[in-house]
Amino acid sequence: MDILLLGAQGSGKGTQADSLSAKLTIPHVSSGDLLRVVISRNTVVGQKARPYYDRGDLVPDEIMIAMFLGRLSEPDCARGAILDGFPRTVAQAEELDKALAPLDRRVDHVIYLKADPAVLVKRLANRYICRANQHSYNLVTNPPKRPGICDIDGSELYQRSDDTEEAVRRRLDIFYNQTVKLLDYYGERGRVREINAEQPVQDVTRDILRALGV
Ligand code: AMP
Repeated sequence: MDILLLGAQGSGKGTQADSLSAKLTIPHVSSGDLLRVVISRNTVVGQKARPYYDRGDLVPDEIMIAMFLGRLSEPDCARGAILDGFPRTVAQAEELDKALAPLDRRVDHVIYLKADPAVLVKRLANRYICRANQHSYNLVTNPPKRPGICDIDGSELYQRSDDTEEAVRRRLDIFYNQTVKLLDYYGERGRVREINAEQPVQDVTRDILRALGV
């Protein structure tokens, strides 16, 4: 089963994807996490992507498509995956469809995590993630037990370089101007379910599982 989580920055995609991944035993594949790894390792691809990432702009399709589809072709994704952050453009969605079709696969479910932009901006200002595995915390609604330390793996928590006010504004603009077009793209195929992402984390998870019928 391939499930796409669609939502603006701060809507809780990463958190929900981790829960779903554990529940459904298929991997959580996050385009942002893949990028943060190559950027922190300063690889050639990381160096190319970094300026776009830091500004909050979309990284060019050719980089993202190769990186994400490469990850999806690994053996652990053979039974499906929770897709987080990719596709973000119609061109990426078309490439994804083309890659899945020969495997007799397609995006089976699109879950749209909907929240008011004002709520998202507030969440992002309080968001910290861990160095080792990108586990996400919110200093107000979901603080770590020990300040500055990840509960799960003990690594340091930091604020993302693209969670600055200016980059956040840009990323939300891109979401509402470009990525929302995917709701039409998948909506025409009758696969989109909308979930209220302003609820507490567990309630959002419950609603997603109901929407998936599991
Ligand atoms: P995220 O962690 O999903 O919020 O992504 C962080 C940043 O990574 C975005 O603001 C973009 O710069 C870049 N990025 C992630 N996924 C994509 C994608 N599918 N296409 C283009 N850029 C992306």
